[in-house]
Amino acid sequence: MGARDLPDFPLTDVDAINEETRTAIAKAIRSGFSPLAVEPPMSLSRWAEEHFYLSAESSQTQQRWVPFPYQPGILDAMGDDRIVEVDVLKSARVGYTKMLLASIPYDAHHKKRNQALWQPTDSDSDSFCKTELEPMLRDVKVMRKIFPALGKKSKENTLKLKAFSGSRLLHLLGATAAKNFRRITVASAKLDEVDGMDLVIERSADPVTLSRKRLEGATFPKHILGSTPRIKGLSHIEGRVLKAQARMVYQVTCPHCEADHPLSWGGKDKSFGFKWDKENPSDVWHQCHHCCGKIRQADYLRIAGEGAWVSECGVWRFGADRVWRNSAGLPTTPPKHVAFKIWTAYSPQATWEEIVSEFLAAMVARHTGNKGPLMGWINETLGETWEDDEAEKLEADAIQARAEG
Ligand SMILES: [Zn+2]
Repeated sequence: MGARDLPDFPLTDVDAINEETRTAIAKAIRSGFSPLAVEPPMSLSRWAEEHFYLSAESSQTQQRWVPFPYQPGILDAMGDDRIVEVDVLKSARVGYTKMLLASIPYDAHHKKRNQALWQPTDSDSDSFCKTELEPMLRDVKVMRKIFPALGKKSKENTLKLKAFSGSRLLHLLGATAAKNFRRITVASAKLDEVDGMDLVIERSADPVTLSRKRLEGATFPKHILGSTPRIKGLSHIEGRVLKAQARMVYQVTCPHCEADHPLSWGGKDKSFGFKWDKENPSDVWHQCHHCCGKIRQADYLRIAGEGAWVSECGVWRFGADRVWRNSAGLPTTPPKHVAFKIWTAYSPQATWEEIVSEFLAAMVARHTGNKGPLMGWINETLGETWEDDEAEKLEADAIQARAEG
């Protein structure tokens, strides 16, 4: 119950007391109760809509955050105590950093929990702290109350640690050293760009296992892993996604046949997916998996808000009402380990025309012997692992060398 929800003071002889006195008494009672007031439980997506701000340093303009249609599903999994493991296999440009960033003040302010965030290296971690975290702590108003060290250099406010009131800590760590996975105990362990981390950290174990250990004893343990995938067979995130109880894909309802379908790249020989006019590749559309009906990006953006995350196994669904439902449409318990897969085509931050023109340019480069742009497109735009014997071997050698170094 929030302070403002407390009932009015029950006055029996109402007429005998004037309005001013009545208001004063009610106010005194409410303020007397306010230390007892507890925030009503709130999902991460609702909390972010109410409190989260985009800082001018890390986005075009400073403004209140409005989630993209697919983001509440991922956010609410990050904030749901019934879910232990959340994997996000994603491309660039889908707004993942902002989702991860929103989960930090939510865990500190709303859930009142200790947390740790690992980035691939110390310098990645410092850079995240300076360009994303510190502007957010400054601009999200509710954090000012619980972060007295804001703006001051002290042992409660360093690049490696933020101490919030109530002994709630946020550790900011690089994943290159095994010591950075020791000695801390947290309720929430978050790994960003986990595919940028070594397969084995200094001959101890992989970063997923090491970070999981830090959750032992937590009442509501939470393990969040997100990454753009890199090389097939060497991808931490792909390995986790394969083990998830539910693999969620965002689906929209086809305006032609009314069946749900995801946005898929498709291929030359596929009847569904992205197609374009060969003479004019700026004319791009997506064909439905069921009826081959066409939608363009403007159509997609119109219907995306009514879409839903649907598990590949068909058991779980999380739609616009932000409730986990079973295949019969009834509210149900979410999976303990859930994976989300999202790529650039879903994002309002990129145009379908750009996606196709980047692909065509990458194919031209490949025909001239340069695989780099296509690898980049597959990882960063399509959000899939790259599979290629030669590239795989090169990368495996490089990672192995670092692991042994
Ligand atoms: Zn259709």
